[in-house]
Amino acid sequence: MGATPCSANVLTDRLLRSWVRCRRRAWLDRYGDGEQRLWTAHRTLQLDDQQRNFVALLPRKPGRGLDACSQGAAGVVGLRLKGLGPAGQSLEAHPPLLQRVEGRSRWGAFAYRPVLARQGRRLTREHRLTLALVGRLLETLQEAPVVEGLAVAGAGRGLHIERVPLTGGLQRQLADALAKLAGDLALSEPPPLVADRRKCKLCSWRGVCDAVAAAEGHLSEVSGIGHRRRQMLQELGVLGLRDLAAVDPGDLGSRLQRFGEQHGEVAHQLVAQARVQRDGSCERLDPSPALPELVNAPGVLLYDIESDPDARDDFLHGFVWLGRRPDGSWDLQGAKYHPFLVLYEHGEASGWQRLQRMLKSYPDWPVMHYGETESLNLLRMAQRQGAEETELTALRLRLIDVHDRVRRYWRLPLNSYGLKSVASWLHFRWHQVGVDGAQALLWWRQWRGSGPRARGSSHSLRWIFEYNHDDCLATWAVAAWLLKQDQMLKQDESLKQDG
Ligand code: SF4
Repeated sequence: MGATPCSANVLTDRLLRSWVRCRRRAWLDRYGDGEQRLWTAHRTLQLDDQQRNFVALLPRKPGRGLDACSQGAAGVVGLRLKGLGPAGQSLEAHPPLLQRVEGRSRWGAFAYRPVLARQGRRLTREHRLTLALVGRLLETLQEAPVVEGLAVAGAGRGLHIERVPLTGGLQRQLADALAKLAGDLALSEPPPLVADRRKCKLCSWRGVCDAVAAAEGHLSEVSGIGHRRRQMLQELGVLGLRDLAAVDPGDLGSRLQRFGEQHGEVAHQLVAQARVQRDGSCERLDPSPALPELVNAPGVLLYDIESDPDARDDFLHGFVWLGRRPDGSWDLQGAKYHPFLVLYEHGEASGWQRLQRMLKSYPDWPVMHYGETESLNLLRMAQRQGAEETELTALRLRLIDVHDRVRRYWRLPLNSYGLKSVASWLHFRWHQVGVDGAQALLWWRQWRGSGPRARGSSHSLRWIFEYNHDDCLATWAVAAWLLKQDQMLKQDESLKQDG
């Protein structure tokens, strides 16, 4: 795994942040093989968001380093703080921003407090502990108390500023966390995989850890098993995927009922899922056709939205128009992609009118999408724009969630039924390697800039369109597989009848 662990190393704010998310992550940050890290757009998105928030908080450009502190700059960046922890550990932090406040420090009649940009809806333990660590080191440097820090969020929609007290209980929590972090870094092997593996999605070590989870047959590898269910199964002595695949579902169901009736009810599904994953097989759950709406459809519209969740902005509604040839086959070569950008400065009404016109031009074409976001958001937009009940009902009937059909009709040997997982299993390949929704969002924010006059490079927009286009085609790859299975089933049945 890399270098030999050494407990005497410095504990940094970055290691602390990693450790709060996952103990193993901090260990890998220090000792893991950097070549195996996977790049994620999440960090760049965070920095981009941070920059916007800081610009909104401080009208003037901040100063750099100690000189700026001694001159009393309103904001300071680029400082490296060093000092000792409560148990004598060597600490280091790079605060993203310090803000001048009233007080008295070694530099004069002012002092500083740490500021961070918060992503997500709430202030978390990670934010609080990071501020507490920086506050502790800043106190020593400026020779003045740091009683609070600031967490800022929401630039672009009205900056939200939260004051975070840094004294008392939080310092005790920091001391405890630093001691545990030091203990984990002294281990010769990495700590176990994080219990809630949803956290792994945004982690650069996910490639390494996914391989470990698959090799170990970790319970989190079974689709449908989250943190809580994994704990229950472990309490019952079911420790891995193979154990789960081997148990009697009825017996497991009765034993799981002690945690609540609903857990008992899903036992059959969990065991069946573990079995298809162990055997690499598929299981059909319903013999009726999975996509009956397509039997007589003249074409389909494949639909995918790109969103900025923080701004609650569905900025791109992408459609692929896929028609049928006279012989009934699907004309994939002739399919056309049409991106509809819905910019807030143009107003949602104009965006809806364009979408409505297009949808009305293809009245008999079902609209296929993967996951519920597209149908929920399109219907909500239609409602906000005053669509009549008849129009809403017609739209509801046209929308087909391919993810829902996969789940209802098939059990697949996959640990996730997400579009990336299912379409990749069917050998669909995205043109852009390693791109995900976070990257598309980053491109969007780079293109959007700070307003209509500050648009970024048109390349960013082209890349988003390409990614969105591929998501539409990936949706079709899954739908085409469902259709093929239906066709095969029909052929088998007619053979049986003939026989
Ligand atoms: S991928 Fe998951 S388990 Fe591995 S270090 Fe990251 S968060 Fe922890």
